[in-house]
Amino acid sequence: MTHRTRFAPSPNGPLHLGHAYAAIVAHDLARARGGKFVLRIEDIDGTRSRADLVLEMLADLEWLGLAWDGSVTFQSSRLSAYAAAGERLKAMGLLYPCTCTRAEIAGAATQAGPDGPLYPGTCRGRDDDPAGAAWRIDLARAMERAGPLTWTDELAGQQQARPELFGDVVLLRKEAPASYHLAATLDDAAQNITLVTRGQDLFAASHVHRLLQALLGLPAPVWHHHGLLVEADGRKLAKRRGSPALGDLRRAGADGLALAAALRDRVLPAGLSLLEGVDSSS
Ligand code: GLU
Repeated sequence: MTHRTRFAPSPNGPLHLGHAYAAIVAHDLARARGGKFVLRIEDIDGTRSRADLVLEMLADLEWLGLAWDGSVTFQSSRLSAYAAAGERLKAMGLLYPCTCTRAEIAGAATQAGPDGPLYPGTCRGRDDDPAGAAWRIDLARAMERAGPLTWTDELAGQQQARPELFGDVVLLRKEAPASYHLAATLDDAAQNITLVTRGQDLFAASHVHRLLQALLGLPAPVWHHHGLLVEADGRKLAKRRGSPALGDLRRAGADGLALAAALRDRVLPAGLSLLEGVDSSS
């Protein structure tokens, strides 16, 4: 089997050191196994996605010495695949339209999920097709259809899939054709990714992705949720706290290969630390 990994940045902000680390992990795991490393641009968030950042990202990766295989996949060119999968899930009776506002959800929610308040199920059971609706998965029904599922993280071991952590998550969105969960799951399969590498902050998302794979008859990859580069106080890297964009470092003449070597050796820039250890409870 040829191993394939991917780096899948969203061009809604410049790449920073955390992205550099994520790209290095994906690249190096592929190379160590004689596999392929591919690139996907997750550019379907129409309100935040910026085309000018894509060229910057490619230049950043080259500067770090991370060569990718084959052509770059853009999610914006895959909209019909997302729509088709959405139709399949609707035909299975697993999606329902939701017109609740964020404020309504926040007001009615009684539990929190990994991404905010857990959807309280207000629209569950609707079978109309209102204009501008988001489409949510009926999680209980979907889990019943799929049966118990497991998935494997190389570092954390075998996991029982617990998509219920996310509740009735949105799969088709009002302002974008597909949610991250649906698009990423379909793309990982279409790009024949065998090892999904990403930060531990997305560990819980894999529960949902495993469910979608089962429902749509897609192969299950192995996952590798790596540590996160964070500020010394544990907070996320942010430009406003002085964490530089890779493009700024590159233009200032910094040595990208030396930076990549340092990150590989866990020699971190001052003020940063690597948060490791999966919290598989969330
Ligand atoms: N586009 C996501 C991000 O930039 C990554 C998604 C993934 O690796 O699955 O955070």
